[in-house]
Amino acid sequence: MLSQEMVKLGTNRSVIRDLFEYGNKRKEEIGADKVFDFSLGNPSVPAPSCVKEAALDLLQNGDELLLHSYTSAQGDAGVRKTIADYINAQHGTNLTADSLYITVGAAASLTISLKALAEEGDEFITFAPFFPEYRVFVENTGSKLVVVDSDPKDFQIDSAAFEQAITPHTKGIILNSPNNPSGVVIREECIKRVCEILEKKQREYGHAIFLIADEPYRELVYGEVKVPYLMNYYDNTIVCYSYSKSLSLPGERIGYIAVSDKAEDWKMIYAAICGAGRALGYVCAPSMFQQVVARCMGQTSDVSVYKKNRDLLYNALTEYGYRCIKPDGAFYLFVEALEKDANAFAEKAKEFELLIVPADSFGTPGFVRISYCVSTEQIERALPAFQALAESYR
Ligand code: PLP
Repeated sequence: MLSQEMVKLGTNRSVIRDLFEYGNKRKEEIGADKVFDFSLGNPSVPAPSCVKEAALDLLQNGDELLLHSYTSAQGDAGVRKTIADYINAQHGTNLTADSLYITVGAAASLTISLKALAEEGDEFITFAPFFPEYRVFVENTGSKLVVVDSDPKDFQIDSAAFEQAITPHTKGIILNSPNNPSGVVIREECIKRVCEILEKKQREYGHAIFLIADEPYRELVYGEVKVPYLMNYYDNTIVCYSYSKSLSLPGERIGYIAVSDKAEDWKMIYAAICGAGRALGYVCAPSMFQQVVARCMGQTSDVSVYKKNRDLLYNALTEYGYRCIKPDGAFYLFVEALEKDANAFAEKAKEFELLIVPADSFGTPGFVRISYCVSTEQIERALPAFQALAESYR
């Protein structure tokens, strides 16, 4: 017999992947320029030039054997130090190489962190709307995902609902800001309130409750928006980071976990992270790309393109009568469906060759996600279709 759980996961593709496959088929049928695919969160802006320069230099002038060899299980010590120094310079922390674990992207950062923390019967809280893979990642550890609805008027955290959801079984919370799919950046006062509640509940229950900060979109913010660095607000924090979005490197699979040195028994937590990485086979992240990202500290892809896309799409859609919150970050617009059932609405959108994702699996029925990490030209071409879709509901 096989694990039926895994068979189910492997055969039930995510709604996003299904839509993407549908789009590819449709493009073959009617031509790529007639299909408006807003399904995936695949960066459309090329990686900054430092990536190519670093890769070429490493390939041409680096030690070839070393470049392709195993690193330490937790990542090259020099690379970890470079990243720790960068975080410290940015956020005033005191991290060292020994609190960093290099991973193959945020998905691995999350699965390793959850595996390191979870014991039987544990619960992890997250806030809707949320990245649907959290359910898969949390349940795979045998733990339960508890979902707390956000405040529907601005998708900030509803602190009263959050406090109510915490139980003696709560091992941690996963907080994602800037958020996929809403694009919302959680405000500092909201973060402070969440941290106060966590402190209070830790005292009440007499055990640690961890804050897992899922931050692949940290640098993708528009305007003067502050994304609080959560270690500076709460000691038991573990940051899960990825270069997939900030450096447009999703296919290279590279990111890290940073354990706060102020966390209770942080050395033990770090040991558990190393153990979880080992148990899951996530050791020695790609050696060459460890070196590449170490040479690109502080660099990002051209975020102004996403801002331009956001403004274009947000202004046009609200003018056509769609309702959505103006996102401050990431590259998604989270829009109220024009009928109650977002699945039916997304199906209707297909008649206009618009591929948009119904948000039921993000924990917020009645909404759709539009990924605007596409070319500005695709958005311009798609606007009449969005307008026609809105008119079809009048
Ligand atoms: N977390 C969130 C909120 C995401 O949106 C994604 C990817 O889209 C991930 C984690 C996984 O990122 P990675 O590709 O680096 O594994």
